[in-house]
Amino acid sequence: GVGNADAAGSRIMVFVRLRPMSKKEKDAGSRSCVKIVNKKDVYLTEFASETDYLRLKRVRGRHFCFDSSFPDTTTQAEVYGTTTSDLVEGVLQGRNGTVFCYGATGAGKTYTMLGTMESPGVMVLAIKDLFTKVRQRSHDGNHSIQLSYLEVYNETVRDLLSPGRPLLLREDKQGTVAAGLTHYRAYSTDEVMKLLQQGNQNRTTEPTRVNETSSRSHAILQVIVEYRSIDGGSIVTRVGKLSLIDLAGSERALATDQRTQRSIEGANINRSLLALSSCINALVEGKKHIPYRNSKLTQLLKDSLGGSCNTVMIANISPSNLSFGETQNTLHWADRAKEI
Ligand code: ADP
Ligand code: MG
Repeated sequence: GVGNADAAGSRIMVFVRLRPMSKKEKDAGSRSCVKIVNKKDVYLTEFASETDYLRLKRVRGRHFCFDSSFPDTTTQAEVYGTTTSDLVEGVLQGRNGTVFCYGATGAGKTYTMLGTMESPGVMVLAIKDLFTKVRQRSHDGNHSIQLSYLEVYNETVRDLLSPGRPLLLREDKQGTVAAGLTHYRAYSTDEVMKLLQQGNQNRTTEPTRVNETSSRSHAILQVIVEYRSIDGGSIVTRVGKLSLIDLAGSERALATDQRTQRSIEGANINRSLLALSSCINALVEGKKHIPYRNSKLTQLLKDSLGGSCNTVMIANISPSNLSFGETQNTLHWADRAKEI
């Protein structure tokens, strides 16, 4: 890790979430190649043949260990409580916090972040928790909660709450901001869920599959909490920012050099995902220069990654042996990130 006092409290917390086997995977005759033990250890099994069901034979196993690993029975509330509730508390103290969901398309990133009406995910539970905490503290000052929801697709930034022309990034005292981005003042959780679902429908779709959101789009929800009170005649203010990010699918976008575990460019490059990897690699290695400027995503997250902010990574994986390769890549990547 990075060996100075400032960074000591800023390690990336890394979690793994396994989703249940889908009907489609079951119907395809797949079997589970992931086992989670003691809510921490992940065992990945490679079978001799991934296609010949009858001759399926265990050939190799690998073991990973994370801050917490969530088996497929884990509820949304448990995931929120373990990964993000501390960050929400930090944001109220003026400390920035960031949560990423990383993994292949179909691994459960959007389910974890947004969820459904019946099972709301981290984004909604975080805002709900903020509302509760702010209400409990209403006697000692004024809080305002504002949110924005944007997409980075193909290095273009778009407002998901008010779709239109691409937005330009510029620097200001709050960090890098998207000029003209809607900041929505939020008052209730139900309203927020509707807003985010609408926003998610505004995410870019692949031209060939109009009803599916693009696996190359990153969705970023930013919640800014401003606190203001008067203390003995002087005004006290505090600002904290929570960034919740549903990353683009990691398949094909990143490949890993098996010897060095470093990201290398794959056939189908997502510049922002690659740049995020480079920043994380630079943070892992304790470098002074972190290449934030290499992509829109990392520019937007400059003040929310490393340094004095809390960062959480949730690696989403499928249990199916048909996704073995993607799962292995995701776990390697997550394993690397936890060294910060
Ligand atoms: P991604 O965003 O990574 O492409 P999704 O979140 O859309 O993947 O998940 C793919 C499918 O699996 C969706 O139908 C989703 O509802 C379902 N799913 C994902 N995670 C879970 C989970 N933990 N429990 C139940 N269903 C899940
Ligand atoms: Mg998704």
